[in-house]
Amino acid sequence: MSGSTKYVYSFGNSITEGSKQMKKLLGGKGANLSEMCSLGVPVPPGFTLSTEACKHSLKNRSEWPTGLLEQVYTGILHIEKEMRQQYGDEANPLLVSVRSGAAVSMPGMMDTILNLGMNDKVVEGLIKKTENPRFVYDSYRRFIDMFGNVVMGISHNLFEQEIDYMKLERQVKEDVELSADDLLELSCRFKKIYKNETGEDFPEDPKDQLIYAINAVFESWNNERAVKYRKINNIKGLIGTAVTVQAMVFGNMGKDSGTGVCFTRNPSTGEADLYGEYLINAQGEDVVAGIRTPILIKDLAMKKPRVYEDLQNICLQLEEHYKDMQDIEFTIQNGQLFILQTRNGKRTGHAAVKIAVDLVNEGIVDRKTAIRDLVEPKHLEQLLHPQFKSDSFDEDEIIGTGLAASPGAAVGKVVFDPQKAEEAKENGEAVILVRIETSPEDVGGMASAEGILTARGGMTSHAAVVARGWGKPCVAGCHDIVVDYNRNIFKSGDITVSEGDWISLDGTTGNVILGKKELEKTTFNPDYKTFISWVYEEEVMAVRANADTPEDAEVARSYGAAGIGLTRTEHMFFKPGRINYVRKMIMAENEEDRKTALDELLPFQKEDFAGIFEAMDGLPVTIRLLDPPLHEFLPSEPAEIKKVAHDLGISEEKLIDKINLLKEYNPMLGHRGCRLGISYPEITEMQARAIIEAACELQEKGVEVLPEIMIPLIGSVEEFVHQRKIIDRVAEEVFSEIGDSVEYQVGTMIEIPRAALLAGKIAREADFFSFGTNDLTQLTFGFSRDDVVKFLPQYLDMEILQNDPFQELDEDGVGLLVQTATEAGRNIKGNLKIGICGEHGGDPKSIAFAYKTGLNYVSCSPFRIPIAHLASVQATLSNVEMEESKVTELSAVESIA
Ligand code: PEP
Ligand code: MG
Repeated sequence: MSGSTKYVYSFGNSITEGSKQMKKLLGGKGANLSEMCSLGVPVPPGFTLSTEACKHSLKNRSEWPTGLLEQVYTGILHIEKEMRQQYGDEANPLLVSVRSGAAVSMPGMMDTILNLGMNDKVVEGLIKKTENPRFVYDSYRRFIDMFGNVVMGISHNLFEQEIDYMKLERQVKEDVELSADDLLELSCRFKKIYKNETGEDFPEDPKDQLIYAINAVFESWNNERAVKYRKINNIKGLIGTAVTVQAMVFGNMGKDSGTGVCFTRNPSTGEADLYGEYLINAQGEDVVAGIRTPILIKDLAMKKPRVYEDLQNICLQLEEHYKDMQDIEFTIQNGQLFILQTRNGKRTGHAAVKIAVDLVNEGIVDRKTAIRDLVEPKHLEQLLHPQFKSDSFDEDEIIGTGLAASPGAAVGKVVFDPQKAEEAKENGEAVILVRIETSPEDVGGMASAEGILTARGGMTSHAAVVARGWGKPCVAGCHDIVVDYNRNIFKSGDITVSEGDWISLDGTTGNVILGKKELEKTTFNPDYKTFISWVYEEEVMAVRANADTPEDAEVARSYGAAGIGLTRTEHMFFKPGRINYVRKMIMAENEEDRKTALDELLPFQKEDFAGIFEAMDGLPVTIRLLDPPLHEFLPSEPAEIKKVAHDLGISEEKLIDKINLLKEYNPMLGHRGCRLGISYPEITEMQARAIIEAACELQEKGVEVLPEIMIPLIGSVEEFVHQRKIIDRVAEEVFSEIGDSVEYQVGTMIEIPRAALLAGKIAREADFFSFGTNDLTQLTFGFSRDDVVKFLPQYLDMEILQNDPFQELDEDGVGLLVQTATEAGRNIKGNLKIGICGEHGGDPKSIAFAYKTGLNYVSCSPFRIPIAHLASVQATLSNVEMEESKVTELSAVESIA
C-alpha cells in the first residue's frame, strides 16, 4: 500500500485509525464509530472508505482510485480477524453492512445495505452454524430486497407486495409470524423478481456484492432526495459521502434480539431522560419503515433490565464525551448490546435551550461551549416567533411558497386593501394582508394585519423590511399566486382564494397554507432567560437596532440593543396626520411654499426623535436623512388620487401632473438619497433642526443623547460635504438660538460601490460609516432588490449563486467592498466607527463576516437582537475553535502521509 493515498480507515478492538475530528474525511458515522472504539464502547469492527474515495469514484464513472480495492480487501481481513469469520466462507461466514455517512448528518437521505456476503451456499453454512433457519432466511430475503432496490433500482414495493401476498396465503398478519420455510420461499420469489427486473441472476459472489454495494452507496450521494435535502438545509462544500463497511450484528436472531434508536434526552422538550423506540426480533430498517409499531425505550428497562442499564451507561458516557445530546442506533444480538452509530441529535428550539442550560448545570460543558455549540440562531428564532404546531397541516394544503421574508406563523382572513385591514383590526378581526407588492402607503394596513403576503418583491423589498422590523410574519415574492385586486381574489393554480377566506402564513418557511391552522405560542421560559443572560454576558461586537419610532426603540432596548443603527425617517411620515404635510411639501411650487410645509412637519419629526432619544438614554442613535424617491409618498390608484387631491385642496389634474413629473424609469437609481437634500436643501435643514432641537431639549431634561446624523446614498465626497455643511450650519444656528449645545456626529451610509472605493477620501470628512448592504448589494450585482425574485430561484437551482445575496452577504464581491472601504477608512481615522445597517445585520453568517472584518456593530430589527447577539458571540468563540480545528485536521492528514 505504501506510496498510494490512504482511503480506508479501520476500527475495532485491535485498531482505530479514525477519530471524531475526521468527519470531513470519514463522515460523521465513520469518524464517530472510530471514536467509540477508542472509548471502549461495544461497536462491531469495520472500516470506512473516505469521502475522497467517493469523490474520485463519482468523478470517474465508478472507476476506483489506485489502491482502493486492495485497501478494501485489507479492511475485510481486519474484520475477519476480529470476528473470527471469513467473508464468503460457507462454513463460518462473515456478513457485513455497507452504510453511507457524510460529514454533515443527512438522516435517511442516502443508502445502506445490510447482510452482504450471503448466497445460497453461505445460507446453508449459516443455518448449520446458528441452527436458526428462520433468522437466516429472514436475513437473506432482506438482503435480496435491499441489494435489488439500492444497487439495481428495483422498486422496494415489488418485494413488499410479495410479502403481503405470502401473508395472505398463510393467513397471518405480521412478518414475524411467517415460518422459516415461508421465508425461504420468499427469498426464492425475491430472486425471481430480481431476475425479471434486471434480466440477470442475483450475484452470488460476495466480492462482487461488496463492490457493487459500495458503488451504489457512493452514488446515493447524488440521489434526488439527498440533493434536495442538501439544498433545503443549505449544506454546501462537501465532496461526497464516506462509506462504512461493518460486521453485521443481528437484531433478528429471535426474542432475545432487537434493534432501536435512542436519544440521550428528549429532542422535543429537552427533558433529561432516555427517549426512543425499539423492536424485538427485527433489523434496523423495520424501526424507520413503520411496518411494525415500535415499543418505547422505557419498556426495555422492564423487559431487559441489564441491557437497558448498559444502554443508559453508554448514553451517559457518550454524552459526556461528545458534550452534547446524542442520537444513538443500537442492536441487541442474543442479549448483547452493540452501538452502531452516535451523532449529535437534532432538536427543537425549546429542547436546544433546555439541554444547553442543563448540560452547563450538570457540569458537562461550560457556558462558552454551550453558547458556541448547543444552540443555533434558528433555535432562538423558533422561540422568539410563533410557529405552527408540527402536525397542524398536510403538504397538499400548501398553496404556494415564497421567500421566508420575516419569520413566524400567522393566521387570518384574506384582505387585499390595507384600509380594510385597519378596519378589521379595529373590529378585533385577524387578517392577512395580501398585496402584489407593498408601498409605504400600505403601512397602516400592514401594521394591522397578522401577517403579510406579497406576490412580488425580494428579501429587501418594502414588505420584507418593514415586516421584519415589526417582527411580523411575512412571505414575499410568492410567484405561485396571482392577485386580482378588481375581483378581490388570488389564485394559486386552480384554487381561488377570496377576500374573507382563512389562510395561514409561515414566514419561517415561506409556505402559504389554505385554512386556519393551529399556532404554538411563544414563551420565554426560565431556561431561555438563563441562556440569553449568559449570551449577553459575553463581550462582543455591539448589536444595534433598526427602529423608526419611539415604540420600536423601546422594544429594541428591552431586547438589549446597544443603540439604534438606523432610523429611516421617512417611515415617520406615514403616521396618521403627517402624510399630507409631506405631500404639500412635494406639491410646493417654490422654496417658500416648501418651507411652509416643512415647518409644519418639523414638530412631528422632533417629537419622534425626542421619543427615540429618551428610549435610548445613554446609547447612540443613528438617524438617516430622507432617502426614498418622492413619488413613493404620492398615491397611484385613481380613487386614492381623487381623495388626496381633495384633502390637499388641489385639482386632480395638478396632482396627476406631479405624479407624472416624478415618474422615473429606475427610481432606485433616480432622485433619492442625498440627491433629494441637494436639490431641496430645506428638507435637510428641517430634519437637521428637528434632530438637534430634540437632542438639546432632551439633554436639558437630563437624558444622555448621542445623535449620529447619517447622509444616505452618497457616491462622492462632494455630496457628503454639501450636506454636512448644511447640518453643521443648522446646528450652529440652533445652538446660538437656545444658548446651549450638544455633541453630535455626521456620518454616511456606504451603499454605492463608488463610495466604498473612495472610502479613504470620505473618511476625512465623515465621523462614521454605516454599510447599507441592501443598496450596496443591489448596486454591486446590478440586481434590482425588488425584481430579483424573478430569476433568483433559477440562479440558486443552477448554482450560479450559492445564496440569496440580499439575505446572506456576498463575501466575495460585496464583502470585498466592505473590507476595502473599512481598511481605507481606518487608514485615515484609526478608530472610525463602522457598522452594517442593511438587512444582513440580522443574518448569522453575515454577522460572522462583520466580526471578522472588524466592524464595530451590526444593526437589525429589534426582534432579531437576541439572535444577532448569539451569532455575534458564536463568531467570536468559533474564531478560537476554527484555529484549533485547523490544527487537528492538519495533523490527521499528516499522520496519514
Ligand atoms: C440599505 O440600503 O442597506 C439600507 C439600510 O437602506 P434602505 O434599505 O432603506 O435602502
Ligand atoms: Mg439604502
